[in-house]
Amino acid sequence: MFEFSVRTTRHSEIVDITWQVEKIVEKSGVRDGICIVYVPHTTAAVTINENADPSVKTDILNYLNIIVPWNGNYTHLEGNSAAHIKASVIGSDRTIIIRNGHLVLGTWQGIYFCEFDGPRSRRVFVEVIGK
Ligand code: ZN
Repeated sequence: MFEFSVRTTRHSEIVDITWQVEKIVEKSGVRDGICIVYVPHTTAAVTINENADPSVKTDILNYLNIIVPWNGNYTHLEGNSAAHIKASVIGSDRTIIIRNGHLVLGTWQGIYFCEFDGPRSRRVFVEVIGK
């Protein structure tokens, strides 16, 4: 298993981690297989979405805030239930196909680390399986 860290700088933030994952796949030597990207946190997540227009990241965060507002009728005493809910909605892992030693992503796709209760130092685990 490989690991790298992400230092987030805002309370809610989407960070492109495609290049870190791609570098790990290259280092692994696996030519054909799968890559699992996993975030070991309860208030952060990982997703795949458009990396061309940065306004897509802004819209995702803004509309998640509408669906799950920070201040709500929550019972969790830590006060960050919105971050927990968003993390579960987006999910803590993604699986990406590897072909010819590279991630198979669409032209406009990037792998995004999603921070919902930052800023913090976060960890990302990557497992590469194949031959
Ligand atoms: Zn909490």
